[in-house]
Amino acid sequence: MWGSGGRWSGTLIVPMSESDNQGCSGLAVMKISIIGTGYVGAVTGACLAELGHDIIFVGRDTKKLDLIQSGKSPIYEPGLDQLLEKNLSKITTTIDLPDAICKTALTFICVGTPSNDDGSIDLDQVRAVSHSIGKSLASDDGYHTIIVKSTVLPGTSETLVIPILEKESAKKVFVDFGIASNPEFLKEGSAVADFFHTDRVVIGTNDLKSRSVLEELYTPLNVPIYATTIRTSEMIKYTSNAFLATKISFANEIGNLCKKMGIDSYDVFRGVGLDARISPHFFRSGIGFGGSCFPKDVRALIAHARTLGVEPQILTAVIETNEDQPEKMIELLKRHMYITGKTIGILGLAFKPDSDDVRESRAIPVIEALQKEGATIIAYDPVAIDNFKRLFPDISYTNDAQDVLNADAVLIVTEWKEFEDLDYHGKLVIDGRRLEKARKEAAVYEGVCW
Ligand code: NAD
Repeated sequence: MWGSGGRWSGTLIVPMSESDNQGCSGLAVMKISIIGTGYVGAVTGACLAELGHDIIFVGRDTKKLDLIQSGKSPIYEPGLDQLLEKNLSKITTTIDLPDAICKTALTFICVGTPSNDDGSIDLDQVRAVSHSIGKSLASDDGYHTIIVKSTVLPGTSETLVIPILEKESAKKVFVDFGIASNPEFLKEGSAVADFFHTDRVVIGTNDLKSRSVLEELYTPLNVPIYATTIRTSEMIKYTSNAFLATKISFANEIGNLCKKMGIDSYDVFRGVGLDARISPHFFRSGIGFGGSCFPKDVRALIAHARTLGVEPQILTAVIETNEDQPEKMIELLKRHMYITGKTIGILGLAFKPDSDDVRESRAIPVIEALQKEGATIIAYDPVAIDNFKRLFPDISYTNDAQDVLNADAVLIVTEWKEFEDLDYHGKLVIDGRRLEKARKEAAVYEGVCW
């Protein structure tokens, strides 16, 4: 709905009833290019192919593209291999971005938006890809819709992406081409399921045509679609991540307090989470959040707030609390042993289970601290060892979790389900993730904040 200032006011489009939903067969097949084949791009492309659309993956790394072309995922994500293999006939790959733009009507920008050293957002990949898309649009006769799925600060699409596209293409936004924000809310480890069963799809558009293209694309999911302006949509993504990160740091602060008072924080959260206003989800304490999103997005929002003259006190505390949590593991370990010269086993290197992503994994500060104390490290993870080796080539790795259990002490850093099958009897365990079996069996057991 258009508001008085010529802007969309947020509209929630209620999902259709079962009988209304004709499925994808009743909808037009769209030709879609996906730029960036990382966690977001690979999942988005595979899932849109499953919905029946023709997908061209555009990447820079031919090895990754060859993997996709052979029906294999370039990242570890449950269900993604099967989805790619099943939909191979609808998928092509290329490093030729202009060709992909020419052959498609929709383009998803799924490139990385990492942090600069000062925490601010690094938009180089978005900028570079906008130049390439803009140049390609110049010779594209059809009406093309560009969708920014990368997480970008409010205003980025309007003040960076659109001006570049217009300048490079010599075309006019909303007249010759469309643009939309469509932030991604997937959780690594359950990204495929999240795509098909998301709580909501957010689409940010400033024109009717782009909005209807996206509504048509997502209607088969039969989930609520929240339609708003581009800028608001960009802010929804940051607000979501900032809130979830805050909930975790809050739980950790309460957990630290509970530990001092001899109270089990998990019992507390269970009791508190029954309150529908609070909810039990994302309400647990441990060694903090990692990954490619929460730390970088909260830092980017902090840096952006400061450029606007706002001091974001809560967000700053969220990051500080998160940084302190891994140290708690080392403090607890020191209570039970003199670390220097000892072998310490690390269970889990990925930032979360069911993922091979090690970006900002809590294993990084834990291992750094142990190395400073003069410990020898032996580490195990079901899928993230290769990625972690690039960060820490000099520690020992094993493909057998039992080797980790034979160390002088065991630190649980990631809550992989298979760690529930290990035998912790007689072991000294410091647990950052609340593994029930370790809690019951270990000879000496310390939970970080319970
Ligand atoms: P990623 O680093 O795994 O993937 C980005 C990919 O883009 C890389 O493979 C890179 O090579 C490719 N790329 C960059 N420039 C390119 C170009 N010019 N042409 C072709 N390919 C190019 O990142 P990601 O985790 O997939 O995240 C992508 C975006 O989505 C980020 O903004 C991130 O914040 C956001 N996001 C990520 C997640 C997540 O869980 N990973 C969830 C929600 C949102």
